[in-house]
Amino acid sequence: MQQGWTFPWVSALLLGVMGLLVSGSEFQHHRYEDLVRALFAVQSECPYITRIYSIGRSVEGRHLYVLEFSDNPGIHEAMEPEFKYVGNMHGNEVLGRELLIKLSQFLCEEYRAGNQRIMRLIHDTRIHILPSMNPDGYEVAAKQGPESNGYLVGRGNARQFDLNRNFPDLNALVYYYEKTNGRNHHLPLPDNWEQQVEPETLAVIKWMQNYNFILSANLHGGAVVANYPFDKSRDPRIRGRTTYAATADDKLFRKLARTYSYAHSWMHKGWNCGDFFDEGITNGASWYSLSKGMQDFNYLYSNCFEITLELSCDKFPSAAALPREWMGNREALVSYLEQVSKHTR
Ligand SMILES: [Zn+2]
Repeated sequence: MQQGWTFPWVSALLLGVMGLLVSGSEFQHHRYEDLVRALFAVQSECPYITRIYSIGRSVEGRHLYVLEFSDNPGIHEAMEPEFKYVGNMHGNEVLGRELLIKLSQFLCEEYRAGNQRIMRLIHDTRIHILPSMNPDGYEVAAKQGPESNGYLVGRGNARQFDLNRNFPDLNALVYYYEKTNGRNHHLPLPDNWEQQVEPETLAVIKWMQNYNFILSANLHGGAVVANYPFDKSRDPRIRGRTTYAATADDKLFRKLARTYSYAHSWMHKGWNCGDFFDEGITNGASWYSLSKGMQDFNYLYSNCFEITLELSCDKFPSAAALPREWMGNREALVSYLEQVSKHTR
């Protein structure tokens, strides 16, 4: 009797422990050193389909490491689309950083396990993952930890610049062109733009110049909604409100945002963090207008379709909340990635 009862329990426990060891994927927050170790661990576990490279350094000299997944890492193959995920641009919004580490481990493990869906994804796409665009801000926020009300502490980079207000403003130009020549993509950068942006922003723009990204997402926190361009309103505020600023690709952007929200366990339901967003999506400007953001810049400068994912009410959730967040986002992160081969401009 007792044996029959004990044995399955012990073997279940053993399997659980082995699972943890194999995947190395227990849930925790990763400081900079831990993040670097985690990325290199994935690289050594999946050496033939991954590569790590740095796109530059933060103000305090931390590397902005990217983990690439591809059947031929480091090589652009004809017709193979380039995709990117960027996390932790606001240093105190940490869920994206952890989800992207987890996604990296997941892609590696599932590829090795022969998961057909993941193998196809890695064969057909070049996936670039930047878990932290603002490692300096993260360290400031992490010192405070999840319990503090870190609404702003660690948001900016080490020089207190908000990186999502730091890209060259191409909206003003496109809104002018709309009334004149109609040009609406591959817009030129302003003179001396390199002197006007922070090192982290500079690194990302150069990254965009070196890779022909066509789809991406930028992971934030503080709300739960998929936000699509434009972020900057065409009109000044009318009675304190800003208005919907559609791109020429509004239909496609809505579809991309819905892909994420509906594949997410609860985003699409609309009510989250005391706010309501129909279908869990919103046009950036119709929520609130912002200038010099990264998603509008991607679209106007390079033809890369980027949406901004707000993923948690809590900007710095406790480690105990991470498993639920991962399960809530996993399918959405993969489904959104798969859109890369489903859309053409
Ligand atoms: Zn943010």
